[in-house]
Amino acid sequence: MIDPKSNASFDEHEDVMFIGGENQGFAGIIAIHNSVLGPAAGGCRIWDYNSADDALTDALRLSRGMTYKNAMADLPLGGGKAVIYRINTDRVDAFQKFGDAVEKLGGRYITAEDVGATVTDMRAIAGRTSYVAGIPKEHGQAGGDPSPWTALGVFLSVQAMLGGSVQRRTIAVQGVGAVGFHLCKLLSEAGAKLVVADVNKSNLQRAEALGVEIAPVDQIHAIAADVFSPCALGAGLNAKTIPELGAPIVCGAANNQLATEEDGARLVARGIAYGPDYVVNAGGIINVSCEYLGQSEAQADAKVRAIPGRVMKVLDIAKAEKIPPHQAADRIVREKIAAARKS
Ligand code: NAD
Repeated sequence: MIDPKSNASFDEHEDVMFIGGENQGFAGIIAIHNSVLGPAAGGCRIWDYNSADDALTDALRLSRGMTYKNAMADLPLGGGKAVIYRINTDRVDAFQKFGDAVEKLGGRYITAEDVGATVTDMRAIAGRTSYVAGIPKEHGQAGGDPSPWTALGVFLSVQAMLGGSVQRRTIAVQGVGAVGFHLCKLLSEAGAKLVVADVNKSNLQRAEALGVEIAPVDQIHAIAADVFSPCALGAGLNAKTIPELGAPIVCGAANNQLATEEDGARLVARGIAYGPDYVVNAGGIINVSCEYLGQSEAQADAKVRAIPGRVMKVLDIAKAEKIPPHQAADRIVREKIAAARKS
């Protein structure tokens, strides 16, 4: 059995559990990073990792990211995340068993959709536990697929970083899946020009209907644009891509966009403004938390509309203190958690 503590991404996680197994038809990990501010909440990612070790690294990084995201968004939630890295049984059966594992935690971890998971999967989980969100609710109640809410928060942040309008601005969007596609719709309705790339042909075709231009997958970050919006997977901002970036602003939905700490400083050195990922992409978890807390869609909308204000505040602090924006954001979060520990 792999020891989570020996993984370089282990960061004083409160609990890391391997779930499923050969006879269960699925294998996964639930990582609870920090529950000082409330029960650990974060989606469940379904991904074909090269190894269980890679899955663990992702679960550790993503759950830590959720602690920061939830705290920054002022949600009464800690940070957790699940990954499922093998399903070799009926999908509904696998998600029901995953639901059993979540139920066993008695509310210490609340799950929802992430990359690769759907509303149908959440319904299967809900058959076994109430510690799940991301399920459509009655009209007016918060709930359902979080991705349009994530997209709204990204759109508003892009708009704010551009000084208030996206009209006639060129936005390069990397990945037009659930969030990227909704984002493209909002941007296109607001008069932006779009250049997109995706490794998935059918997702590209769906985006083409919006009149987007298509760029090669390995070139999208280098396209001359006003904003580069990473909406695929993490670590897209790294020593290779940062020198090639074609936009003065980076603002997107992907989690863990910076491959390493130094990449934040690399962006600053190139004069590129970076909207820290977890500040920008909190719309989905805000909607999940409103659903879980029985709040209305209008309350979720108001909270998502507070995202761009936070992004600009972080950028202002970073500028004033001459530190990379991700460090300014991390510091705000650490202060919030320290204050909660004391109270
Ligand atoms: P998704 O799987 O629906 O979409 C991701 C898209 O990226 C897919 O179309 C995929 O084909 C594409 N892609 C993968 N590798 C690529 C590459 N190298 N180049 C270009 N495209 C590539 O996932 P999603 O729900 O839209 O999430 C996108 C990102 O946003 C992820 O990093 C996710 O963790 C993050 N995020 C999502 C939410 C949410 O509400 N869904 C919330 C916060 C953060």
